[in-house]
Amino acid sequence: MTPLPTVDDVRAAAERLRGHAHRTPVLTSRRVDEALLTSVFFKCENFQRMGAFKFRGAFNALSRLDDGARRRGVVAYSSGNHAQAIALSARILGVPATIVMPHDAPASKVAATLGYGAEVVRYDRVTEDREAIGAGIAAERGLTLVPPYDHPDVIAGQGTAALELFTDVGELDALFVCLGGGGLLAGSALAARALSPGCRLYGVEPEAGDDGRRSFRSGAIVHIPTPDTIADGAQTQHLGELTFPIIRRDVTDVLTVSDAELVDAMRVFASTLKIVVEPTGCLAFAAARRLAPTLRGQRIGVIVSGGNVDLDRYAALLTS
Ligand SMILES: *Cc1c(COP(=O)(O)O)cnc(C)c1O
Repeated sequence: MTPLPTVDDVRAAAERLRGHAHRTPVLTSRRVDEALLTSVFFKCENFQRMGAFKFRGAFNALSRLDDGARRRGVVAYSSGNHAQAIALSARILGVPATIVMPHDAPASKVAATLGYGAEVVRYDRVTEDREAIGAGIAAERGLTLVPPYDHPDVIAGQGTAALELFTDVGELDALFVCLGGGGLLAGSALAARALSPGCRLYGVEPEAGDDGRRSFRSGAIVHIPTPDTIADGAQTQHLGELTFPIIRRDVTDVLTVSDAELVDAMRVFASTLKIVVEPTGCLAFAAARRLAPTLRGQRIGVIVSGGNVDLDRYAALLTS
């Protein structure tokens, strides 16, 4: 069994990312703080390269490949941001990339992936298994498969966002992190336990896809069909073999929010913070808003995970 990554791996990832990833800003808003009666620190990964934190894990994983593996290339499956992250990291490092994407992936994400020079292979999200397709292409062409969350280097890379947050603002009372397959949450947990041991840590997933909460509570990984939610970056069907034990060990609780709460949070981001956040990127803040009455006077971290959303869809959601 692969050993679980540790905070030392997160620190090593931060070294590899230096000069390649942006150190994203931490935003605060007096209006938000007055409304929630807390101090909220937003770690804005919507400003990360390619528009989401996924660049961190992808670049870290690709940086660690040996020369032979780099020459042969990599394959990844993703509904969007991991695809762009692998495609951009591969271009920077001169590695050929093949990306398996669903037919209904957002057009902007497909276009961006192609724009970074990757080959895109399409599949049907409902009838086909992307993990099997990815593994098949990897075996056939001798490529290295880089999974979107269940990989020690991906988890360590994703943890660098929280590492930066704690380094910049100090210890927090609670940190809210969106949850799909758990790469970001597990990485954040490694950073939080080292830099802010008393911090409560909440994973937040869409109500329609509550496999993470059920897994967290039952102690075994729960598999679900692809959930129906506007949070397309968190439509995962199960946590990972590596992310789950870290989440079970280090996370305080897993919460869920509705699509309507995501849209409300998206409106606050647009109107108050003046930032474009994709639906999945609103999960953490939506949960923090809901829990606000229990967080009075506390220092709260919110990871804003990404900002990649087609503008027509964004406009439709904001006016819905
Ligand atoms: C991938 C993604 C998530 C979920 O991350 P996991 O590591 O799979 O839990 C959340 N938000 C955005 C914007 C993403 O791209």
